[in-house]
Amino acid sequence: MAGTIAIKNGHVFDPLNEIKGDRMDIYIRNGKVVTELSAAELKDAKEIDASGKTVMPGGVDSHSHVAGAKVNVGRMMRPEDHYKFYQKKTPLTHSGCGYSVPSVYLGGYEYSKMGYTTVFEAAVPPMEARHTHEEMRSTPMIDMGGYLVLGNNWFLMRYLKEGDIEKAAAYIAWMMRTHKTYGIKCVNPAGVENWGWGENVNSLDQANIHFEVTPEDIIKGLTELNEMLGFSMPLHLHANNLGHPGCWEITRDSLKIPKSIKAKPKDPNVEWAETKVNPKRHESVYLTHCQFNAFGGTSWRDFESGVKGITDYVNSHEHVVMDSGCVPFGDATVMTGDGPAIHDLYVLTGNKWSNTDVECECGSGVLPFTYLKSNPVHSVQWAMGLEVLLYVKDAWKSIMTTDSPNGGPFIKYPQVIAWLMSNKARQDTLNECHKWANDRAGLASETREMTLNEIAIVTRANAARTIGLSHSKGSLGIGADGDVAIYDINPAKLEVSDYESIIRAFENAAYTVKGGEVVCQKGEIVAIPEKKTYYTDITVNAEEEKKMIDDVKNWFKYYTIGFSNYPTPEKYLANPTPIKIDAEV
Ligand SMILES: [Zn+2]
Repeated sequence: MAGTIAIKNGHVFDPLNEIKGDRMDIYIRNGKVVTELSAAELKDAKEIDASGKTVMPGGVDSHSHVAGAKVNVGRMMRPEDHYKFYQKKTPLTHSGCGYSVPSVYLGGYEYSKMGYTTVFEAAVPPMEARHTHEEMRSTPMIDMGGYLVLGNNWFLMRYLKEGDIEKAAAYIAWMMRTHKTYGIKCVNPAGVENWGWGENVNSLDQANIHFEVTPEDIIKGLTELNEMLGFSMPLHLHANNLGHPGCWEITRDSLKIPKSIKAKPKDPNVEWAETKVNPKRHESVYLTHCQFNAFGGTSWRDFESGVKGITDYVNSHEHVVMDSGCVPFGDATVMTGDGPAIHDLYVLTGNKWSNTDVECECGSGVLPFTYLKSNPVHSVQWAMGLEVLLYVKDAWKSIMTTDSPNGGPFIKYPQVIAWLMSNKARQDTLNECHKWANDRAGLASETREMTLNEIAIVTRANAARTIGLSHSKGSLGIGADGDVAIYDINPAKLEVSDYESIIRAFENAAYTVKGGEVVCQKGEIVAIPEKKTYYTDITVNAEEEKKMIDDVKNWFKYYTIGFSNYPTPEKYLANPTPIKIDAEV
């Protein structure tokens, strides 16, 4: 029977159900986790003997750059990235290439090899949504969705300035549906618009040119709108001043803005899988790639880690969740909607640089980058990414990412996991690093070693819960999607000092199961499963929406495309899966 499988005797780590390594069986029927299979079903089902192995829900990446215009710019501008990592075609799989920015096919295969089954594209410019969806549709193996970039949208800034919150809400709901995207992304609020004039903003109360809204206005406005509309995920925030020494303070102050705004995710039209832990978010803000927003010091001369200033705040407040943006060394391609931040890196490095302004909406920058252990700043950044995860006491407040490919490509996740689980792995790397890693960060004296249960939280359970997907993802509860990763790690015999074995196990899952089907086995793709694309479909007051649409149509005189060419039709999506929310109630 398709999508029916019995996974026997594994050590199961399912944090949303508080299962921490118990030996048990997981049964999946027709793609969903079930209590048991009948004798007849068992006879026909595929059976996997997972004894001595670690069993987790399929990995969930809540922030990665894998599809769309700027990712494609990264591919085009870097032929040197293609030669060093490529795969030949097989009867089942496409060929592909690209180390830090893989082609869409290769990206899907590589995620699947590591046991990941769900990945969210972190930045979709509205005008580039069609392109993003085309690339997501072509990315095999993984379920996907994307966040819509709205932090410097002309139209929205106008409504925010006028204080017309009802129309702003109608606009966001319409934009999500129009572009088939999932949540609100806010990048360098007010600053990216200023970049159109060669400027940035440097403080939370600095009004930008022409629109005269401040970063604070935008963060507050978008958080309120996010909760008014009842999105499944919190506001996804890339804070101001990214990549500048001393930026940790503005980051912490940005997190204070939504402190009094209560998380109010509405009930979407989904069946909820069983979970012991509350599967809904209680945070109103999701800070992304904290490491890049946690620089200390006042210049590159006295640069140091400022992570503790942020993690102290996060440890004592309940409204923030964040991902790390780790730096695993080696080749990366930095790409972000934060145009001025990438320009600053261009000035620092002189590397190839691409800069884009997406008319009336947002912008982006792309630049190849190599992180070196011998470089003082890079070595501190490596320590900082790990500090973000190790200093946050409650793993449910953090998510592991490399902001792929900004800190490094996602294929380095196994290496990051090894550093989190093994102090020896960290000390060995510290010994190879520039001495600033020791002197300018606190990592050297941090002895915490994450457990497999905590790794399951920061690589799947919390990523799914944070973005509102724990109704089906990040858990092995009854009713969850039958997405499972089985790793060659025996928790009873695990020696974390042998960290190479941890890296090997997480690089190539023994089995990746997607929808109850084995799709990857020890690094080899064995089946191409169906995939889904999530987006949020919010219903708002029809009258309000109509008035707003009249404004938008009028506003299109500033666009170079026609209004009718703006939306992304559902046919651009692989198996479109709307998360329906009624914001009228
Ligand atoms: Zn990012």
